[in-house]
Amino acid sequence: MQSEIILRMEGISKSFPGVKALQNVDFVLRKGEIHALMGENGAGKSTLIKVLTGVYEKDAGQIILDGRNVVCRSPQEALSMGIGTVFQEIALCPNLTVAENMFIGRSQNSFVRWKEMNAKAAQLLDSLGIPASPTQELSSCSIAVQQMVSIARAIDMDCKILILDEPTSSLDEDEVKKLFALMRELKARGVGIIFITHFLDQVYEISDTITVLRNGELIGEYQTAALSQIELISKMMGKALSDVSEMKKQEPQTSSDSVPVFEATGLSSAAGVRPFDFRIEKGEVNGFAGLLGSGRSESVRAIFAADKVTSGEVKINGKKVKLKTPLDAMKNGIGYLPEDRKHEGIVGELSVRDNIILALQVMKGFFRPLSRKQAEEFANEYIEKLGIKTPSINTPIDSLSGGNQQKVVLARWLLTHPMYLILDEPTRGIDVGTKVEIQKLVLRLAEDGVSLTFISSEIDEMIRVCSRLIVMKDREIVGELSGMNVTEQDAMHMIAQGGKGHV
Ligand code: ADP
Ligand code: MG
Repeated sequence: MQSEIILRMEGISKSFPGVKALQNVDFVLRKGEIHALMGENGAGKSTLIKVLTGVYEKDAGQIILDGRNVVCRSPQEALSMGIGTVFQEIALCPNLTVAENMFIGRSQNSFVRWKEMNAKAAQLLDSLGIPASPTQELSSCSIAVQQMVSIARAIDMDCKILILDEPTSSLDEDEVKKLFALMRELKARGVGIIFITHFLDQVYEISDTITVLRNGELIGEYQTAALSQIELISKMMGKALSDVSEMKKQEPQTSSDSVPVFEATGLSSAAGVRPFDFRIEKGEVNGFAGLLGSGRSESVRAIFAADKVTSGEVKINGKKVKLKTPLDAMKNGIGYLPEDRKHEGIVGELSVRDNIILALQVMKGFFRPLSRKQAEEFANEYIEKLGIKTPSINTPIDSLSGGNQQKVVLARWLLTHPMYLILDEPTRGIDVGTKVEIQKLVLRLAEDGVSLTFISSEIDEMIRVCSRLIVMKDREIVGELSGMNVTEQDAMHMIAQGGKGHV
C-alpha cells in the first residue's frame, strides 16, 4: 500500500543564464516517507528544493500540496504552508537561547512570556529526544543539536514536510545516529522528509525511496530496498553498467626508487576527510576516484594544506616535513590546480601574463617582484608550450575560453617546476580537443619525472591517465586499483561496495 501523497511537483523547469538547472522534473513525497534526493554535484537537487521553498521562481511546472496548487514566494511562506527546511548552514541566532530560537519571530506581541516559552520548549525537546536545555545559548550546542533545534522549530510550526539539505556533512557518527533517531520519530508522526546527502550508506540506512537527478533531469524514482548501490551510482553518473569499454592503458610510470616523492600517514583535515595514508612515487600518475562529494577534493586539499590539516605526518623524499599552508607545500615542490577554476584558479581581471607568473611570484614573495622582462619571457614561453590561444599576454584572462583559461592556470604551476602536481578536474567544462591535450601533457610530465595526482569525474579519463586509482566513498579511502587491466566497471564496483582493508 502506498501512503497518501502530500506533495507533488510536476514538470518543474528552472534555468539560470547558460544552465538548465532543472528540466521537466517530477517529484512526489508521501506521508511518513523518508525520500532521498540523489545526484552528483550540480544535478539540480538544491535548485529543486529552492523552487519548492520559494527561494527561486520556477520557469514552468506546478507544485501541488495536499491536493491544492500552490505558489510559494519565500521560505517564510513555505513554512506557513507546512514546509520546513534545514540547511547545512544553520540559519538561527547563535546568541539567543535554544528556546528563543525555537519561537523567535512568532510571538503575537512583543511581550514574551519567558516561563511559558521555556516550559513549552523543554516539553518539545524532551518529546523529540533532543539533548539540549531551553535556556542554554544556542552557540554552546553542537552543530548536530543546533540542527535538531531548527527541526524542532519546524515541527512546532506543524510542518508536514521537512527538507534536510546535506545536514550530516559536518556531523560525527554519534550525531548522525541522533539525527536519524529524530528523523524516524518524525516519520512515525507522518512527516514526509526529503533528505539530501552525499553519503550513500546513510541513504540506505534511512530512506524508503530514492529519486535520482542528473544534469537537471529526472532519471527516476526507486524503492531504496530494490535499488543496489551500484545501480544507484550508475544512474547518478549516467553510465550503463554494461556499457563499459576497455581502455588502452598507459604504462605505469613508477620508478625503481623506493622512497616516495610524497608520503602521508593518518592525514586528515578540518574539511572532514577521514585520516588516510597516501604515497606517490617519482613519475607516477595516480588519481582519486569516487563520486563528486566522496572526498576526492578534500583529500588533495589536505595534501596541499589548502584546508586546515588536523592530523597526520608528511614526508617528502623520505624527509619529515610540516606543511601548514599552501605556501609551505609550494616551497616543497607541490603544485595544486583547484577544482573551481572560476573562484580559486583564475584572477579574472588580471592579464594572462600576471596569471601565469602568479604562483612563482607568491613563492618568491611579493617584495621581490619578477622584472617585467622576465614575466613576459615566462608568459610567452608557456603560451607557446601549451598552445594558449590569446590575443596577447596583456589580455585579461576573463576573455579567454574555458580551455585556454585552464591552460593558463596549468602554465602557472608548470612555471614553478613542481616535483608533484595535483590536478583537480583539470578537464571539466573544456572542449574535447583541449581535454586530450591536457591528458597528453600529464603523461608527458610524468615521463619527465613529475609525479601527478589527477582527479576527474570521468572515470574513463582517469583510467586512461592514471596507473593507480585510489577509490573514495563517503570521505574515506575504500580501496585501490592498480595494474594495466583496471576497467571502469571495477572502479564503479569499488565505489559502490567499498573494499575496506583492500589498500
Ligand atoms: P546540486 O544541489 O544537485 O549540487 P544545484 O541545484 O545547486 O545542484 O545546481 C544545479 C545547476 O544549476 C548547477 O549547474 C549550478 O551551477 C546551477 N545553479 C544553481 N544555482 C544557481 C544560481 N543561483 N545561479 C546560476 N546557476 C546556478
Ligand atoms: Mg546542493
